[in-house]
Amino acid sequence: MPNSDDRTGARPHVVLLPSAGMGHLVPFGRLAVALSSGHGCDVSVATVLPTVSSAESRHLDGLFAAFPAIRRLDFNLAPFDESEFPGADPFFLRFEAMRRSAPLLSPLLAGASASALITDIALSSVVVPVAKERRIPCYILFTASAAMLSFCAYFPTYLDANAGGGEGISDVDIPGVYRIPKSSIPQALHNPKHLFTQQFVANGRGLVDADGVLVNTFDALELEAVAALREGTVATGFPPVFAVGPLRPATFPAEERAKDPAGYMEWLDAQPARSVVYVSFGSRKAISTDQLRELAAGLEASGHRFLWVVKSTVVDKDDAAELVDLLGDGFLERVRGRGLVTKTWVEQEEILMHGSVGLFVSHSGWNSVTEAAFNGVPVLAWPRFGDQRVNAGVVARSGLGAWVERWSWEGEDGVVSGEEVSEKIKAVMAAEAVAKKAAEVRDAAAAATAEGGTSYRSLAEFVGRCQGA
Ligand code: UDP
Repeated sequence: MPNSDDRTGARPHVVLLPSAGMGHLVPFGRLAVALSSGHGCDVSVATVLPTVSSAESRHLDGLFAAFPAIRRLDFNLAPFDESEFPGADPFFLRFEAMRRSAPLLSPLLAGASASALITDIALSSVVVPVAKERRIPCYILFTASAAMLSFCAYFPTYLDANAGGGEGISDVDIPGVYRIPKSSIPQALHNPKHLFTQQFVANGRGLVDADGVLVNTFDALELEAVAALREGTVATGFPPVFAVGPLRPATFPAEERAKDPAGYMEWLDAQPARSVVYVSFGSRKAISTDQLRELAAGLEASGHRFLWVVKSTVVDKDDAAELVDLLGDGFLERVRGRGLVTKTWVEQEEILMHGSVGLFVSHSGWNSVTEAAFNGVPVLAWPRFGDQRVNAGVVARSGLGAWVERWSWEGEDGVVSGEEVSEKIKAVMAAEAVAKKAAEVRDAAAAATAEGGTSYRSLAEFVGRCQGA
């Protein structure tokens, strides 16, 4: 693959600063590899140690061991009193600690002779000014969908226009994109005092000050949102948008990966093509025990083979529950052979790549959606939290899969019954049209990321700007 620096011979030094959580770290790692191995950049990743979860720590170790050209820069945080936010999500607390430490980045960037900084949306409103002061171009890697980016960019304008009504948040009609119904808006944003809301609004307002925004999506997947952002329809003066996704999985050598005590890869090898329903709700959110049990009943009644990754806490280090206590007596015995259930970390990329997987029941975290798109695995979206309903909307619109909009998410009353889950799984597994459409999305993703494709060219254009800086 030709390097983007062939024209000038200059190797820009790009510093990446992700926030916390695997949903942020994974795409930053993939971008680091793409810039370093495919586009001729010197790359450093600024890291905060210790990480919030064990998964992040293992992931960073694997990344630096497998790609020694990518350097680690230690970002040491200022002391932060978490008791100011009792009961807050540990990942949001880390965002806040990092935000308050933003001034400490200035000497770090100067010492690294950075040509450009790429940071995370969770940090952007405080990091962009620090980079500007240093005259270092500052870009955002937006790790969710372009639909969510447009929502983030427009939400402050929506609030300004609707402030004072006292009626709370309603549907948000994003100019040039589409209407995001009230029920799809991240739960926390209904509370203006929530720590997440304050960060989200500040970051949304500050987006226009960035030098550009890279998004882990591709033009063909989210045509309206990407075009509206680029044309300035969503927010006037919006900086250049580089749709660079789906960022390709960065494979680590076997010894750097999580071990597989559950033997799920071997188990998958023994299953017929496209016969397995893979079920995972991501790296960082638990589902109530009542809902877990209905989901178990649904999987059992569907009659399909399944591989299910169960999580019972927000942070993996706290997870000590036993599967049998979570799923009820007898379930594991009844499904033995047909269903494999694990609480360990799995290598999801490898699972989605495996030919035996026919459906992904997913919370529709954006990385999971892009990984399904990359592999052409149909998604049954069951969003639970945050941006996931907006992402599920993209799944349904693009034809990558299905979304039952009435299925509840965190904070809403009622559990979805096992019977409903079972019926829906059976219907989507039987739908040839869904599998065909998902394969078309995979082909479009491959075309976008191949040399000369829209995403490849966007990333090369970004690198070109770093060289010119
Ligand atoms: N992931 C994984 N193994 C697991 C759980 C998650 O490899 O057991 C990966 C998954 O492939 C994705 C990331 O962790 O790359 C989770 O990001 P996503 O945006 O899907 O959801 P989040 O966890 O942020 O809600």
